[in-house]
Amino acid sequence: MGSKYHQESYREWMASVKNHPNIIGSHIHKNGLYSENVIVDAGANKGGVKRFIIPEPVIQSHDSLLKAAINKSTVKREDDGKYLKLPGISSDVFEFYVEWLFSGRFFILLPDRIELGKPGCEKTEAAELERWVSCFRLATVLKDVEYQDASIDALIEWIEELGSDGYSLRLSLRIAEVIYTSTTPDAPCRLLPVEAAVKKWSSEMYRQLQDHPETKQRGTALGQFYGDLIAQLAKWKDFTIKERRNKTQADFPFVIDLGATCQYHQHVKQREPCYKKRRPF
Ligand SMILES: [Zn+2]
Repeated sequence: MGSKYHQESYREWMASVKNHPNIIGSHIHKNGLYSENVIVDAGANKGGVKRFIIPEPVIQSHDSLLKAAINKSTVKREDDGKYLKLPGISSDVFEFYVEWLFSGRFFILLPDRIELGKPGCEKTEAAELERWVSCFRLATVLKDVEYQDASIDALIEWIEELGSDGYSLRLSLRIAEVIYTSTTPDAPCRLLPVEAAVKKWSSEMYRQLQDHPETKQRGTALGQFYGDLIAQLAKWKDFTIKERRNKTQADFPFVIDLGATCQYHQHVKQREPCYKKRRPF
């Protein structure tokens, strides 16, 4: 199982650190685990710097470039803890990542959100998708496969909340563009925007994509997405759009059961276990 710190949230941890400022350098956890902390200053070039104090075992328990960075012998030290600067990463986005490291949960929805599909949800919808985009890109930049796979599951849930009519061309193409520009052609998550389109799009949306200027250019993200979509559609050519929408989970590849989403997960390529296997949910 993961680190003992997964039992608490980053906010709770920071509150305990603030109450005991002398433990910034090192800390005896309530479970008796002794650790050093890593001090991370994130966001200097992205809207302002914010300091994070993270117990080293939390970082060591996840394979990522962050872990690789703190294991370098050249890493700087400050207040007896290791010290990293991440000026190019927004502190807001990094905070979501730190919450993930602590809790094992990918959570970017705010408490006062308007549910998708309800009147006035457009702003919520746009803000949530852009938060997801930032987190997904951070996962690929940090090469944290588990965080990337968890973000894909969160996206699947989010798309399902939108429903068929809410999965607009604008949202679909934004998701496709981000996934295709952040991943290599063999990335399993590229299948997600393709299958979601096969299942949810209207025929008008296919026409609009055909007319999109980027679609004809093979090297662009949308050009690659269009090619993959055409290949996938060939498998479903004997079904009408209505029939595709009504297909059940058992015989349609685009699943909503979050226990069965590994076909979109990067860990399969790396022959690693799924992030869902290592923590109780
Ligand atoms: Zn998986």
